[in-house]
Amino acid sequence: MRIHSCHFCSSPIYPGHGITFVRNDGKVFRFCRSKCHKAFKQRRNPRKLKWTKAFRKSAGKELAVDSTLTFAKRRNVPVRYNRNLVKTTLNAMQRIEQIRRRRERAFYKNRMKGNRERQFALDKKLVEENPELLRMRDVEQKDKQLKEQAKEDQEMESAEENDESEMETTDEEQEEEKLAAKILLKNKRKTRVKF
Ligand SMILES: [Zn+2]
Repeated sequence: MRIHSCHFCSSPIYPGHGITFVRNDGKVFRFCRSKCHKAFKQRRNPRKLKWTKAFRKSAGKELAVDSTLTFAKRRNVPVRYNRNLVKTTLNAMQRIEQIRRRRERAFYKNRMKGNRERQFALDKKLVEENPELLRMRDVEQKDKQLKEQAKEDQEMESAEENDESEMETTDEEQEEEKLAAKILLKNKRKTRVKF
């Protein structure tokens, strides 16, 4: 069993998944899902759709040119089974995967470098062009302060009320006890059902 890659988006196609289309000249096209098959039938260009690997690679968003990517080529010359060769190949596959991951991470880091500064510059520009945004923020902050003050006042009042009404708290306690008793009863019932 071979894990093929989608003709359209390049994602892996596991056995039992996807659609295979054989053109009348014998070329085989494999698709991971109907989304890719439909797009192919509509003659969409995968390089122009942002969700495909083809787009990401042609737009420089992913590692495209690297020696670790050339190992997974299809070779048409059959190789005689050799235990040692298989062993070394398996080891090499793991090692190459490790290296590829590391390079990919480095590539990503490099690509994202300076994003924060760029975003900061953009934000600065936005604020400079629209000074009313800052004013809006001031209003928001004032609102927040007012709300907090109101909350504090309420808390003070409620604290005073608590001092006056100690009887109510006892009532609440009684209610809590009742609730606890109910829960206990429920639990007993449950255990009975189990037996
Ligand atoms: Zn696909």
